[in-house]
Amino acid sequence: MCLIKKTMDRALSDGFKDFIDDSLLNSLVKNIKEDIIRVREIISKSMKKEPLTIEETAVLCAVEDEGLLEEIFDAARELKKNVYGNRIVIFAPLYIGNKCVNDCAYCAFRKSLDTTVRKTLSTSELHQQIEALEKVGHKRLILVYGEHPSYTPEYIAQTVREAYSVKIDNGEIRRVNINAAPLDRAGFKIVKEAGIGTFQIFQETYHHKTYAKMHPPKTLKGDYQFRLDGLTRAYEAGCDDVGIGALFGLYDWKFDVLGLVAHSWQLLNRFGCGPHTISFPRIRPAHGVNLDLKYQVSDADFKKLVAILRLAVPYTGMILTAREPEAIRREVMQFGVSQIDAGTKIELGGYTKQGVQELNKEQFQIGDVRSMDEIVLDLLKNDFVPSFCTSCYRQGRTGEQFMEFAVPGFIEKFCTPNAILTFAEYLEDYGSAVTKEEGWKTISRELASFGNEKSRMAIQSRLNDIRNRGTRDLYL
Ligand code: SAM
Ligand code: SF4
Repeated sequence: MCLIKKTMDRALSDGFKDFIDDSLLNSLVKNIKEDIIRVREIISKSMKKEPLTIEETAVLCAVEDEGLLEEIFDAARELKKNVYGNRIVIFAPLYIGNKCVNDCAYCAFRKSLDTTVRKTLSTSELHQQIEALEKVGHKRLILVYGEHPSYTPEYIAQTVREAYSVKIDNGEIRRVNINAAPLDRAGFKIVKEAGIGTFQIFQETYHHKTYAKMHPPKTLKGDYQFRLDGLTRAYEAGCDDVGIGALFGLYDWKFDVLGLVAHSWQLLNRFGCGPHTISFPRIRPAHGVNLDLKYQVSDADFKKLVAILRLAVPYTGMILTAREPEAIRREVMQFGVSQIDAGTKIELGGYTKQGVQELNKEQFQIGDVRSMDEIVLDLLKNDFVPSFCTSCYRQGRTGEQFMEFAVPGFIEKFCTPNAILTFAEYLEDYGSAVTKEEGWKTISRELASFGNEKSRMAIQSRLNDIRNRGTRDLYL
């Protein structure tokens, strides 16, 4: 811990201001009453793809009436369809090390828990994990780290470079995102230079008092403001692709939805671009964790919060992880989720191991243990198109989610063709017989619905190259 303190600059961003006003957010949650006319006005604002204010989001959070809730769900479903189409981007998390100096009450990696098995992947173990991920078709990863003096920005950058360097058969990793402790500006520059995609930092809860209860004040993570300011420093250091998140169940879900919306506005106002993604994990059972979860979020409220977030931040990608069980994932996906993980293993070294989760080696229990191929097939059965696209990032088009939303014709020109092409690669190289059959049917259907004849021909010719000539990595 001392080492980090000595080497890390704990200065906050230029003109830092704590933009979370607990009493304002609490009063919005408590005092706004259900109002059918306003709810409908707000829904129609959102359908015009305008981001909602914090207060407007609170009006949606107050809805209890079943019929009115259905209107929110329908709107979220339609917004997702209109703005993003039916693509779902697939990624995998890869835990690099679980040593940690913090003591977060909800986490099996917390320092005070001496029954947790600690491990950091060696370079050769890291290569083995990447090979295993490539062998089932992954192209996009998120690397995950505890907070520890040995996980310096240089170390994180090195693991990113290693991940990009491993190639097996047609497999390669084309985008590496990061979920790690907040860095200082110099640290963000170092990891950016290694070619990272999104840098994610979850605030966990925006409620100051609860934050202090969950994260002991003498730990590094106990510093609420340093964490809240993390992504602003990332932007200042040139990382303009950032992901925010809250761990639902620590405090009132409505408060934390408003916190996420406040955070989006802060980034949008300051940098002209909001977060690239929002994550909304719910707390899962974990080794050595025995919290009294007064604010546990029910499935019904979870569904509600996903739909409300979709309407509140129409231009932001939404990530739904394998923490959630299969049935819940299937249900809430339709309300605006744009990315999911598949074939997920969170034990250090888990991708080369068979068997059930061993909780004393993992951060929490996952809810969806299906393989990549099973999840891909399920997506197809539910009319989604799995996508492994990394094109915007590699073409230097940052803020892709924003462009999808803001640039007319962007989705038809780039996103849909790239989803189809990367999915075709997946089918040819990794799909099981049944997935391949279903997948090619989906691709034909998608192609047939393409309005522009010239684009259809261009995609068809690339598909022929993928299928018949073994050409790979075609994108627009
Ligand atoms: N250690 C870094 C940090 O805390 O910022 C990196 C992220 S941590 C390895 C990944 C995320 O997992 C945390 O931000 C937290 O939201 C989530 N998490 C921790 N314990 C969890 C639990 N019991 N259930 C669900 N998610 C959990
Ligand atoms: Fe460490 Fe992150 Fe777990 Fe907190 S959530 S104990 S910082 S790994």
